[in-house]
Amino acid sequence: MSKVEEFLTEKEERDIVEAICAAELNTSGEIRVHIEKHTEKSVMDRAKEVFYMLNMDKTKAQNGVLFYVGVEDKKFAIIGDKGIDAMVEDDFWESIRDTISTAFKKKDFAGGLIQGIINTGLKLKQYFPFQDDDVDELPNTISKG
Ligand code: CA
Ligand code: CA
Repeated sequence: MSKVEEFLTEKEERDIVEAICAAELNTSGEIRVHIEKHTEKSVMDRAKEVFYMLNMDKTKAQNGVLFYVGVEDKKFAIIGDKGIDAMVEDDFWESIRDTISTAFKKKDFAGGLIQGIINTGLKLKQYFPFQDDDVDELPNTISKG
């Protein structure tokens, strides 16, 4: 886990995008993944910055969720916007973090992110079910910094 380009294979990237698309078929929520090399800031501060940079604070129902990975820093963070954060149990984000962390320790980066996306999607579905007039407010592609 050092270079952004080597962090995931092309197939793994496709699988992640597919997981985001699949999750968003069930919810109005918006999931994004951002991968970058390094930040001087704390991982949480940087993830929040990226959250705003990607306009993830602008969803109508405030239900955007960002998975941020700092490849060289070997750190990741999950940010859920106010709408979803207000609904979930106190330990929800921690449980997602644990799931990802367990996979990352086995160097299963794609598997960890995909499981995190699936679990987040199920929770989003519970509180923000898909609407017939739903708009894909944020691209499902992986963002790289
Ligand atoms: Ca949507
Ligand atoms: Ca989307």
